[in-house]
Amino acid sequence: MSSSVDATNLLARLRDLSAIGATASGGVHRPAYSDDDLAAREVVRGWMRELGMTVHVDTAGNTFARLEGSDPALPPIVIGSHTDTVPDGGRYDGALGVVAALEVARTLGEGKGRPRHPLEVVDFQNEEGGIVGSKAAVGRLDAAELSRTAVSGFTLRDGIRRLGGDPDRLDDCVLATGSRAAYVELHIEQGSVLERGGNDIGIVEGIVGIWYWEVSFDGVASHAGTTPMRDRHDALLAAARFVDAVHDVVTSVPGRHVGTVGRLTMHPGAPNVIAGRAVATLELRDLIASTVEKLYQAIEARAGEIARDTGTTVHFRSTTHTTPAPTDPRVRGAIERVAGALGLSTAFLASGAGHDAQHMAIVCPSGMLFVPSVNGLSHTPREFTRDQDCVNGANVLLGVVRHLDALD
Ligand SMILES: [Zn+2]
Repeated sequence: MSSSVDATNLLARLRDLSAIGATASGGVHRPAYSDDDLAAREVVRGWMRELGMTVHVDTAGNTFARLEGSDPALPPIVIGSHTDTVPDGGRYDGALGVVAALEVARTLGEGKGRPRHPLEVVDFQNEEGGIVGSKAAVGRLDAAELSRTAVSGFTLRDGIRRLGGDPDRLDDCVLATGSRAAYVELHIEQGSVLERGGNDIGIVEGIVGIWYWEVSFDGVASHAGTTPMRDRHDALLAAARFVDAVHDVVTSVPGRHVGTVGRLTMHPGAPNVIAGRAVATLELRDLIASTVEKLYQAIEARAGEIARDTGTTVHFRSTTHTTPAPTDPRVRGAIERVAGALGLSTAFLASGAGHDAQHMAIVCPSGMLFVPSVNGLSHTPREFTRDQDCVNGANVLLGVVRHLDALD
């Protein structure tokens, strides 16, 4: 039984995939449902067939391929990621997880000691545009969302049809709870924690929850030339202080949570008019919901003070949130043990970005492992992960599948 994946194979597939939708800047442009997205997924299905796997496109348009195990009664272990990219994105985000899963399937399929569990390799659709495919696979995709237009210009409904799915029969693709033994995803970190700490493998403790608010400051719009400074109710001044206050509150508490004001909209938004209204977005992310609640309360209190000082009123409206998805301790333990046995150093970390694993965690024990992103860069043509790190990640994934396969 081979104890490691074939590095040449792995890197060649990664290179082949990055040629589909390659951009002049050295990046990859494969937004979900675009022609290049479809082409890449077809290439992946070809590789799956070459490995003797049974390929299936579910009604949401996700690709699944199955390698039979030695015990047909056992539920499959699922590994994989996604092959769509952000516009002019990188060569590793998603793609690495899929090609590594294929290489694991090849290694296990060719070895003498077949796993007991069937192995499924998945290429989820439209991860970058709202983690759509895995959301559908766990029955959480709202029918209303199907009318939304993706970056490629297709609605999700039309996109799913383009992928060979059927948007009117999404119930058919839902994975029943317990129908899968585990889900494990290898992904690039997209941050610089591993690089900074000099670690080889990141053990993901969970995927942070994200909470969004719309925060509006209401003042009085008036003439910028004739309104004395002391008579102003400047909504933009309030919002500017709010941006600073958010940063202040978020950095005043130790932890890995983050808080961002990413957009500020002014009304009427003219150079010679004092803003009567300013609307800020606020998003907070953390693994622990109670931490976010405390931060939110502190931010709300500060906003109240700012409103009083500036003669404005403030209103918070919660728009949407995703719940934190802790990873399964057995998967975390398996990653730690396997990496250690391979002589690779590990670090525990939270994922600040969303991933398909957060949805799969709803139906089965799920986990993720990260490999370092050089300079922490991702979603850009400059996204880069060293060959050795890609290979290390695939080898840990292989070991983790074997480890989980040995559990009941
Ligand atoms: Zn990704």
